[in-house]
Amino acid sequence: MRLILLGPPGAGKGTQAQRLVEKHGIPQLSTGDMLRAAVQAGTEVGKRAKAVMDAGELVSDAIVNAIVAERIDQPDCARGFILDGYPRTLVQADAVEAMLAERGIALDSVIELVVDDRALVGRIVKRAEDAKASGQPVRKDDNPEVFEERLREYYKKTAPLTGYYYAKGRLKTVDGMASIDAVTAEIGKVLAAAAK
Ligand code: AMP
Repeated sequence: MRLILLGPPGAGKGTQAQRLVEKHGIPQLSTGDMLRAAVQAGTEVGKRAKAVMDAGELVSDAIVNAIVAERIDQPDCARGFILDGYPRTLVQADAVEAMLAERGIALDSVIELVVDDRALVGRIVKRAEDAKASGQPVRKDDNPEVFEERLREYYKKTAPLTGYYYAKGRLKTVDGMASIDAVTAEIGKVLAAAAK
């Protein structure tokens, strides 16, 4: 199964992706996680991405496309993968099409988690508090100021992807304001319908 999860920061893509990993045994490819790992490891990519990420802006298409192209060729992606936080621009969406076509594989579903913006800042603040309480590092971009910029980037560059996939007849929407379990159940229904 090859799936794209769309939605603004704080929509719950990561949480749902983790549940899908457990259920389907395929990896979650989060470009945010991959970039944070690169920053942590101090790689060339990490050095270039750090300031951009800290400011809540998007890392260049060339960097993320290259990271994903390399990642989907790993053996654990052979049975499928969940793209979480990628693609985030129309250029990236075209890159996904090309990557899949080159490999002779197809996308099964694109699912957008539809959420109310007003709830998002609260979710991000809570995510930072939870991370702190459990002794995990708090993301530098999980604060209300940077979040505003992340949301602006989302509307400018990522939101057009819903139209892109809708026009291709691929977009499915799920109410991301429902409980985590209810969202998981809805996603399950969408995937079951797509598999028929
Ligand atoms: P995330 O963990 O998905 O919220 O991503 C954290 C940050 O990493 C974003 O605010 C961007 O700076 C960067 N990032 C993650 N994925 C992408 C992407 N597909 N394109 C560009 N930048 C990205």
